[in-house]
Amino acid sequence: MPQRKREFEHRNDIVEVGRRLYQKGFVAAADGNVSVRMEADRVLTTPSGLNKGRLSPEDLVVTDMTGRKVYGRRDPSSEMEMHLVMYREREDVCAVVHAHPVHASGFAVAGIPMDQPLLSEALLTLGTVPLARYGTPTTPELAEAVRPFAGFDGILLANHGALTVGSDLLQAYDRMETLEHSAHIYLVARMLGSAQPLSEEHVTKLQQIRERCQPPRGSCLGCQVLEDSIQTVPSKLTQPAPGGTYQLTREELIDLITDVVKDMGRP
Ligand SMILES: [Zn+2]
Repeated sequence: MPQRKREFEHRNDIVEVGRRLYQKGFVAAADGNVSVRMEADRVLTTPSGLNKGRLSPEDLVVTDMTGRKVYGRRDPSSEMEMHLVMYREREDVCAVVHAHPVHASGFAVAGIPMDQPLLSEALLTLGTVPLARYGTPTTPELAEAVRPFAGFDGILLANHGALTVGSDLLQAYDRMETLEHSAHIYLVARMLGSAQPLSEEHVTKLQQIRERCQPPRGSCLGCQVLEDSIQTVPSKLTQPAPGGTYQLTREELIDLITDVVKDMGRP
């Protein structure tokens, strides 16, 4: 059974993904945002206004599902609502990545969706990628533009950038890499003047394989084991070792302190 990740591990994952997004040139300066749904009503997100290549774990912010800050010394991403729409519409989504990779954003600026079945590998891991209409960043327009396409794993945002989702953060990040790599290949094929779509028969076969490989809708890898494993630390505290002492690993201690801090933020 997969183990639930602890909050400090999610923090480290987001810092690592921010670094990769920056190193790959998918974001510049303070562009982009990344989030993880840790629990049903707790989302860990990148802060507003910081470079994603230079984040520290303590820069990240925890919000509830309305986007209200629960704890963290900075403000949450101003595009948080777009992430929350994906979480609300898709129970299987536990991570969202938004970036401005050059080739994919080029398609978004040109108003060209990546909805033709051109690459077998991209269809398997990402599916086709629609183009959401333009919505002004930092306003609710952006979230409303994305909502009709919440069923897709990758979305182009007109005159803006791209959004990918996953059942965990690495899957959402890998889909952003696939999206950008595909956009680069599509561009080369267009420059060569003959982008040949896959046949309907081949697309059907790929869709069948993709559906077989997907986890069932409604089961988020990060959340589904939460209820089972969250009891581990408290149960240790009810059973002291001889002499009345308690033995916890470093991770269990961090988890316990995190839970206490989280409870302080609850109404
Ligand atoms: Zn953006």
